[in-house]
Amino acid sequence: AKSLGRNTYRFFTEELTIQARCRLDLENSIRKALKDNEFVLHYQPVIDAHTQRVVGAEALVRWHQNKQNLLGPDRFIPVAEECGLIIPLGRWVLRQACQQMRHWLDMGIHLEFMAVNLSGVQFNLGSVEQEVFEALQRSGLPPSFLDLELTESIIMNYGSQSLSVMNKLKEQGVSLSIDDFGTGYSSLAHLKNFPVDRLKIDKRFVQSLEEQTKDMAIVTTIINMAHNLGMKVVAEGVETQAQQALLKQLECEFFQGFYFSRALDEDAFADWYAAHSS
Ligand code: C2E
Ligand code: CA
Ligand code: CA
Ligand code: CA
Repeated sequence: AKSLGRNTYRFFTEELTIQARCRLDLENSIRKALKDNEFVLHYQPVIDAHTQRVVGAEALVRWHQNKQNLLGPDRFIPVAEECGLIIPLGRWVLRQACQQMRHWLDMGIHLEFMAVNLSGVQFNLGSVEQEVFEALQRSGLPPSFLDLELTESIIMNYGSQSLSVMNKLKEQGVSLSIDDFGTGYSSLAHLKNFPVDRLKIDKRFVQSLEEQTKDMAIVTTIINMAHNLGMKVVAEGVETQAQQALLKQLECEFFQGFYFSRALDEDAFADWYAAHSS
C-alpha cells in the first residue's frame, strides 16, 4: 500500500508538471497568435422568427493556427481567461466585430445587430466600458448596432458592481443579452433588476424540447417571464424544423442554430446573406 501511495503521488506530480507546461506553452502561443494575427471571427446568422430573415450575427472567435487548423474557442478561451490574455484577445474581438459590422452596413448588408461575447474576466478586471467605447469610436459603428452577451454567472458573481457596469454600457447605447440562460444559478427574481434587452435560451433546453415535456415547461416559463420583463428571446442551438415550429408557437422572437446556418467566415456570411435576403 505504501509503495502504491508513493507511485500515485509521483504520477500525480508528473501529471501536474505536464499540465502546467502545456498551459504555459498554450499561454505563450496565444500571446504570439495575437501578435501574428492568427485569430479570426466567424459569424452565425440570427433569424427573425416572423420574417424568417437574418437580422443579426453573433461573432465567434476561432484560432487559425499556423494558417492550417482552425481551433474552436473552447480550446483556448479558458486558458486565455486564466492568464489574463482574454483582455487583449477580447479587445481584438470587440474591435474586429465592430469594424466588420460597420463594413457590412456600408456594403448594404442590413443587419440590426452584431453580438459579441464578453468574458467575466473582461467584465471584472478590464474597464469594459472604455473598451467598448473605443471599439465604437474606432469603427464609427453607431452603438445601437452592438449587442453584448453576458452570462448569468458574470451578472450574479459581481453583484451590484455588475449592475453599475451594465448601466454604464446601456448609457452608451449598446444593447445587452444574457447568454446561456438556464445553465447558471441566477434566480428569476434577480433578472428584473438588470437592464437586459434579450435573453438567450441555452441550446441544452432547445435540443430536448421535443422529447422532454419538462423542458417544454421550462422553456415556456422562461419565454413568458422574459416577455413579462420586457425582454426578447433568442433560442440558440435550433437544429430542426420541429424545434423551430415549437419555439415560434411559444412566441420566441429570434432563432440561431445549425438548422439555419453554422458560424461562417466573413465572405461566406456575405454570400449567405445575399442568398437569403431577397
Ligand atoms: P456561445 O456563446 O453559447 O456560442 C454558441 C456556440 O454554439 C458556438 O460554438 C456555436 O457554433 C454553437 N452552435 C450554434 N448553433 C448550434 C447548433 O444548432 N447546435 C450546436 N450543437 N451548436 C451550435 P463555438 O463557436 O464553438 O463557441 C463556444 C463558446 O465559446 C461560446 O458559446 C462562447 O461562450 C465562447 N466564445 C466564442 N467566441 C468568444 C469570444 O469572442 N469571447 C469570449 N469571451 N467567448 C467566446
Ligand atoms: Ca454567446
Ligand atoms: Ca450561448
Ligand atoms: Ca456557451
